[in-house]
Amino acid sequence: MTQRITRREVMLVTGLAATVCAASALGVGGLLLLRRRAAPTPTPQPSAPPSLPPQPIIVPRAAWGARDPDHAAPNEYGYAESALDSSWWVYPGDLAAVYNTVVIHHTAHTQDTVETMQDIQNLHINRNGWADIGYHYGIDADGNIYEGRDIGVRGSSVGGYNTGLLGVVLMGNFEFDQPMEAQVASAQLLVNWLAALYSLSHLAGHSEFNSNTVCPGENIATQLDTFASNAGLQRGTGGYVAPSFG
Ligand SMILES: [Zn+2]
Repeated sequence: MTQRITRREVMLVTGLAATVCAASALGVGGLLLLRRRAAPTPTPQPSAPPSLPPQPIIVPRAAWGARDPDHAAPNEYGYAESALDSSWWVYPGDLAAVYNTVVIHHTAHTQDTVETMQDIQNLHINRNGWADIGYHYGIDADGNIYEGRDIGVRGSSVGGYNTGLLGVVLMGNFEFDQPMEAQVASAQLLVNWLAALYSLSHLAGHSEFNSNTVCPGENIATQLDTFASNAGLQRGTGGYVAPSFG
């Protein structure tokens, strides 16, 4: 007796091919039908772009009472782009082409000192003569992440290498203190996000660029390998290339 093979049955058998012997279940006609309906070769799909890690919560400048940049500052001259090495420099174009390395700092003030982003900004403007806070981000002992200097502007935190470095400061003195758990966790979230957002390749501690400082302190130095590996970055200064804008 001839069996009529429906499409549904063929699909069912095809799906069960690993556990059911098709020849005995369907006979020769069934096999021919299966051959005619051979599965198409899968078309290679383009790989999806990597998704960004979630952006951590970042306290904006206005919320912590930032002063406007002081463009009369004695150690950062003028406004907007300039050929002067020490000038306030708004990067042109794509920031992913500017940044390759994130640098970790400490503020070097012990945790029993009340310290805020305003304190750091005042120190950098009033004492150092810079136009603004030097770091792009700050993280306090409770793990709050703060917006620092505009990410589109050259930072001021690593002598001789400011152009193209992204600066993150953890509040505390990690020659003496241990970083707080929440602070370390927030730093990792921020590094993960920045690494993906700007296609970074490296993470370094400040002292790796400037040997005349112990920043960010020996008690955070051991965390740097972890920050880097969790974010898919290499350690050290080897990825630093000052951006060229023609
Ligand atoms: Zn530093």
